Amino acid sequence: MEFILIVLVAVIGAAMSYVILYFVIKAAVRDGIIEARNIDSTSNEQEDDGARISKIICPNCGARHDMDYPKCPDCKHQYN
Ligand SMILES: [Zn+2]
Repeated sequence: MEFILIVLVAVIGAAMSYVILYFVIKAAVRDGIIEARNIDSTSNEQEDDGARISKIICPNCGARHDMDYPKCPDCKHQYN
């Protein structure tokens, strides 16, 4: 019976330390780390938007290529 109590206390202690660690990390993130993450995510989104704007998908063959082409380089479909 004592063994079960010791295991129980160990498990609860480990769980409690994980909870405390979680709040400590959450506070640290709130204090500054989360700002760096936001800057990273927004810069990535901007890169994605730029790639989406500069690329065009051919309505004829579905090939993805730069917007600069007057016609599709894959199937020579002429854009209006
Ligand atoms: Zn095409």
